[in-house]
Amino acid sequence: MDQTIPLASPDLDADDIAAVTAVLEDRHLSLGPRLGAFERAMARYAGTGDAVALSSGTAGLHLLIHALGLGAGDEVVTTPFSFVASSNCMLFENATPVFADIDPATWDLDPDAARAAITPRTRALLPVHVFGRPCPMPRFVEIAREHGLQLIEDSCEALGSTIDGKMAGSFGHAGVYAFYPNKQITTGEGGMVVTNDPELSGLLRSLRNQGRTSDRQWLDHARLGWNYRIPDILCALGISQLAKIERFIEARQRVFDMYVQRLERLDEILPPHPPASGHRVSWFVFVVALREATRARRDAVLKELGSRGIGCRAYFSPIHLQPFYRERFGLREGMFPITESVAARTIALPFFNRLTEEKVERVVEALELALHATRHV
Ligand SMILES: *Cc1c(COP(=O)(O)O)cnc(C)c1O
Repeated sequence: MDQTIPLASPDLDADDIAAVTAVLEDRHLSLGPRLGAFERAMARYAGTGDAVALSSGTAGLHLLIHALGLGAGDEVVTTPFSFVASSNCMLFENATPVFADIDPATWDLDPDAARAAITPRTRALLPVHVFGRPCPMPRFVEIAREHGLQLIEDSCEALGSTIDGKMAGSFGHAGVYAFYPNKQITTGEGGMVVTNDPELSGLLRSLRNQGRTSDRQWLDHARLGWNYRIPDILCALGISQLAKIERFIEARQRVFDMYVQRLERLDEILPPHPPASGHRVSWFVFVVALREATRARRDAVLKELGSRGIGCRAYFSPIHLQPFYRERFGLREGMFPITESVAARTIALPFFNRLTEEKVERVVEALELALHATRHV
């Protein structure tokens, strides 16, 4: 028997397989009927006027930066505590990411720090709903309005998270979801932009398809575009997965609760902060933090856990400390102390819908042993 417990594992069933093979049977593999159907299902779920499916979440972020006209000389205020794509999308268009630090409790971009980072060159705000926890969006909407800024939500980790019943991703000018296999729902690779702006969604549909427009011939191109199309096989899988999202969110919450209850006995471990009132979190990953005093042992603990067959990872490595960001923008350690402190203390533990109570117990036992084994490090 395989004794390892992976960090993530997609939840796929016979319906998903049937949905995929049905596309292979009818042979409409790209720009077919499943594309529009997936987009309509996602717009309905997100509560937005439209949705545009793409080859990845990164493609969605990139096209938004491009479509909103952000480029050289334009600043976008965002978080350094994120997956690198939320800032790389600006670099693709020569726009400048301006980092602001996070809230030490929620690990999301701090609205006050974001406001303080605004300059006359700032054109947009790009908060990230980290690990699924919604940012305080009413605050960001207010700051964006006050300063005349675009508001883009990186919701790639937060499909199904809500604030007072309204979906994360639906507050700003546009939001982006992603469907890599470790996300709440998967298409293998894939992404989706949601927006209420029909002009923007029309432009995104052209940009993802080599700059074509629906009123022209296949080899006429109205503008410079990319091939960021998503195949219909993946759209069919997305439709099938999306139909189960509410069940998935409940399953993840159950696993989350099992962990939190068992982690109470480990003094060195800080479980995730409880959600703010009115927030529902669709958890993407389960990330705990070591206490500041235990911080130096983090990498040794990860190594111990790994050697016991437990999938685990430090989450995230701050964006401002990636070598190409340091070099290009003169960024260095000490600039975003809360991000750096949190990033040095995190441990992501195995987290997926079908994780059993017995396996959660095994993970927590392994963590207890790892903490004990590293106590003199
Ligand atoms: C997953 C993710 C993305 C997009 O990832 P893709 O692999 O391109 O789909 C973007 N931002 C964040 C914060 C993510 O977690």
